[in-house]
Amino acid sequence: MKITVKNQEKEILVQTVSLQKNKFDPTNLYLFRCPYCGTAITQIQGLVNKIVAGVEPTENVIVVHQCATCKRLYTFQTLEYPDIRETKVMLVNSLGAMSTFRCYICRTPLVEFRGDKVIRISDMSMVHIPSHIPCPNDGCPGIYYFQDVL
Ligand SMILES: [Zn+2]
Ligand SMILES: [Zn+2]
Repeated sequence: MKITVKNQEKEILVQTVSLQKNKFDPTNLYLFRCPYCGTAITQIQGLVNKIVAGVEPTENVIVVHQCATCKRLYTFQTLEYPDIRETKVMLVNSLGAMSTFRCYICRTPLVEFRGDKVIRISDMSMVHIPSHIPCPNDGCPGIYYFQDVL
């Protein structure tokens, strides 16, 4: 995605958060927290189906939300079809630094990563991507499928 600042075009990295209807609790609003730093971004109705790098093609007009803390950019879209229990994630590295990915529901840190090295925080074991990791927080419905690291 390109933005124009003072007549200069810049390429920016936006992550697309795809939402699906929550069949069990269709009217509830959830606070979506930045999975990289835990800062509240916006309220969402529905569950997160996937979080991927880049803007996915959509009919919608794009609205970009910036995390006030880590400055990552997110756009949200709704998927019509799926009914999946887990959230697919493409992990996005920040330059050189160790990054943490947190459960978007309860903020429990799930993995730490740097480059393509991913460590599960609950037992500090190496994770081979792709990998399924349930949120270790008792009672939290979050289940994650880490499909790639960028
Ligand atoms: Zn953030
Ligand atoms: Zn959780």
